[in-house]
Amino acid sequence: MSAPALKYLNGYPPHVLAQVRALIEADRLGEYLGNKYAQGHAVRNDSQLYDYVQEMKNRYLRSAPPLAKVVYDSKLQVVKQALGTHTTISRNHGGKLKASREIRIASVFRDAPAPFLEMIAAHELAHMREADHNKAFYALCRHISSDYHQLEFDLRLYLTHLQG
Ligand SMILES: [Zn+2]
Repeated sequence: MSAPALKYLNGYPPHVLAQVRALIEADRLGEYLGNKYAQGHAVRNDSQLYDYVQEMKNRYLRSAPPLAKVVYDSKLQVVKQALGTHTTISRNHGGKLKASREIRIASVFRDAPAPFLEMIAAHELAHMREADHNKAFYALCRHISSDYHQLEFDLRLYLTHLQG
């Protein structure tokens, strides 16, 4: 078997990638993920997704602008946008510019383990405060989802596994 490209793990150090390749070559990546992330979630549709993210926002980002829309998006390319997208939509109401926020989460998360949905929701909510993936952004991610970095790494493993 040739070494897989691991496109979801760009930027991780070589020794980490070597461990991942070893897991894949031993055909044990699915087992690793299955043992660690057995729990699914019940957030099946856009309305439930909105409530789920809204509740998280109420708890951790109460003062951020209101969420306009939260949806699963089957057109989001997992390769390019594995971590969802975030957009600011400006609407002009009678001359007064009002920003509202829309969060789109790739459909792959509908059937993903519960912690990965939590992680991606934290990521997108953090973008309401920080546009870039900077230090403050990740601090906010960890505030919302305390195991954020491990979850993001394991999510990348999960996507790698799905890709087959
Ligand atoms: Zn982002």
